[in-house]
Amino acid sequence: MTSWKNEQVLIVGGGLGGLTAALALARQGIASQVIEQAAAFKEIGAGIQLGPNAFRMFERLGLIEPISALAVFPENLIMFDSISGEEVTRIPLGDAFRKKFHYPYALIHRADLHNILLEHCRKSNLISLDAAQKIVDLEGTNGAVTAKTANGKDYRGAALIGADGLWSTIREFVVGDGKPKPAGHITYRAVLPRDEIPEQYRWWNMGFWAGEKVHFVLYPLRTGELYNLVAVFHSNRYEEGWDSYGDPAELHERFAQTCAPVRALLAKIESWRMWVLCDRAPIKEWSCGRITLLGDAAHPMLQYLGQGACMAVEDAVCLADKAVEMDGDYAAAFRAYQAARYLRTGRVQIMARIYGEFYHAGGVAKELRNLMLGSRTPDDAMAGMEWLYGEQKELTRGGGKTN
Ligand SMILES: Cc1cc2nc3c(=O)[nH]c(=O)nc-3n(C[C@H](O)[C@H](O)[C@H](O)COP(=O)(O)OP(=O)(O)OC[C@H]3O[C@@H](n4cnc5c(N)ncnc54)[C@H](O)[C@@H]3O)c2cc1C
Repeated sequence: MTSWKNEQVLIVGGGLGGLTAALALARQGIASQVIEQAAAFKEIGAGIQLGPNAFRMFERLGLIEPISALAVFPENLIMFDSISGEEVTRIPLGDAFRKKFHYPYALIHRADLHNILLEHCRKSNLISLDAAQKIVDLEGTNGAVTAKTANGKDYRGAALIGADGLWSTIREFVVGDGKPKPAGHITYRAVLPRDEIPEQYRWWNMGFWAGEKVHFVLYPLRTGELYNLVAVFHSNRYEEGWDSYGDPAELHERFAQTCAPVRALLAKIESWRMWVLCDRAPIKEWSCGRITLLGDAAHPMLQYLGQGACMAVEDAVCLADKAVEMDGDYAAAFRAYQAARYLRTGRVQIMARIYGEFYHAGGVAKELRNLMLGSRTPDDAMAGMEWLYGEQKELTRGGGKTN
């Protein structure tokens, strides 16, 4: 029987968001074509944190088991003062945390997560994957969308999802609000083998040292065989651009006031990858007819809540649910999807900026932060996370099987 579900949806971008969208659609029996500009489907070599809210979605997608097999489940989230080195606060992530949020907090190598999604996409007969195809133009034709590539190829689909990230081309067609906004924060990332980490920091924790206009993060990946290091500092020296090699001399200068363990860890790394962090203010509408956006293309956010990819995963599940609820009327489904998502994602975008200020506070603000966080009990801390990690009414329906 011919069904609207057999008419493919085009997904521009094969990052974490685009691949999850393909899997969420397949789970509902909907065919899709993923189009990726890079020569191959791949992710950068760094870690990513996944909150319980992402795992709630992975359960709906049948992905808990493969992801859990490669993830590290840290024992604690620990924040230190980066100048004194003293512990400010600690949130245990064991039984009480899992009991409250029903799912764990995890750390995983991005390439591992991306590979799991890619393998599942490859196994589905509803998902087609094309790399080395950059979409440069769109055309709406009677009840369909055509996406045109830089080398003259056309893809036709019943609808189109722009999952093409922070520098989204599709957003230009749908929203047209120009480039994202540099936050004035620079991130350096590196991954080190366990042997190069001082003994006392070969831990099973997500630890970070917060200081004035800087912070430093350290956590294990791949059963502790690797450690992920992230150093962030304020600088307006860079306008935009990402994924280039960083300048270690600038990094050491910015972190000169931090405690000895942070400086010792920074000194271990010879080669860092650098990102200029950008985000956008939240918007309410990111769909136009049969075209919509997902993940960073729709609501790019700073990394301070570790939620950009988690939000893309939630988007994917919500969007597939709405396509089914609206019985293949994609324009209606995309309106319902953005209506269900914009306050949630907008809240995370805004809170991520606030957390960035909070982590990088100096003077009295820093003292106040340490006092407030230091006097919390683990229960207080978890209560404060309920809005982010707790169940979302829109995202709890069961459904489907990957074909
Ligand atoms: C330093 C840092 C730390 C972070 N830490 C976390 C964390 O701990 N937890 C978390 O959840 N999130 C985190 N994030 C955010 C997370 O990385 C992003 O939100 C997430 O990767 C976005 O996924 P996406 O699929 O929307 O976009 P992307 O991952 O950017 O994927 C977009 C894809 O589209 C492709 N593309 C772009 N344009 C075109 C085109 N015209 N045609 C075809 N293909 C195209 C790109 O090549 C790319 O593969 C962090 C981000 C940063 C910068």
